[in-house]
Amino acid sequence: MTPEPELEEGVEIGTCERCGDTEVRIYLENKRCEDCDGRFYPCSICKEEQFDEDTCRHIFRGDDCEWKGSGAWIDPSLKTPLFRLFDLMPTGFAVDLRVAILSGKFYTFLVAPLIGDGASLSVYGMPERDGRWVETWWGNFLIEIGQGEHSREVADAYHWLASLYQKKTLEANQATVEWIDEYLSAQKEERT
Ligand SMILES: [Zn+2]
Ligand SMILES: [Zn+2]
Repeated sequence: MTPEPELEEGVEIGTCERCGDTEVRIYLENKRCEDCDGRFYPCSICKEEQFDEDTCRHIFRGDDCEWKGSGAWIDPSLKTPLFRLFDLMPTGFAVDLRVAILSGKFYTFLVAPLIGDGASLSVYGMPERDGRWVETWWGNFLIEIGQGEHSREVADAYHWLASLYQKKTLEANQATVEWIDEYLSAQKEERT
């Protein structure tokens, strides 16, 4: 009789409850195989587990496949795509975004049709410009960049901003404001 292979604690051989694979290593806790388990992530804002095909707005998988967002990892390396986005956006975006986030009213809302063009993105909480509402004005620039040649460079920045939600994501808001300050002071130095 050959001895059973050693299994670490919390694991057994069984059927995965999500994909139905049999005779695989599954976690006792949730009866999922390792592959399936890696596709779930607990959002710290929702306080609920999310599945990668249909997550809440607070988490996303970054360029490097890591879970990031206001409900996951506040990854300082997100500054790179974010600063790139600021460079590509019209002047004043970073400054106004800072105001919007600090007001506790910032969030984005995307309406995307299933087929074809015509997506519209609103950026809420941004201060008025010349007495005009600017929600979709800013949104249109973001969409344009998102469809342009630099889209891959700034995708994580967009997902990050979309993960912020009013006063519910305070820690991530705070980090974003610090990053913006860093960006703005670097810009000031460049000019002098
Ligand atoms: Zn599975
Ligand atoms: Zn969430």
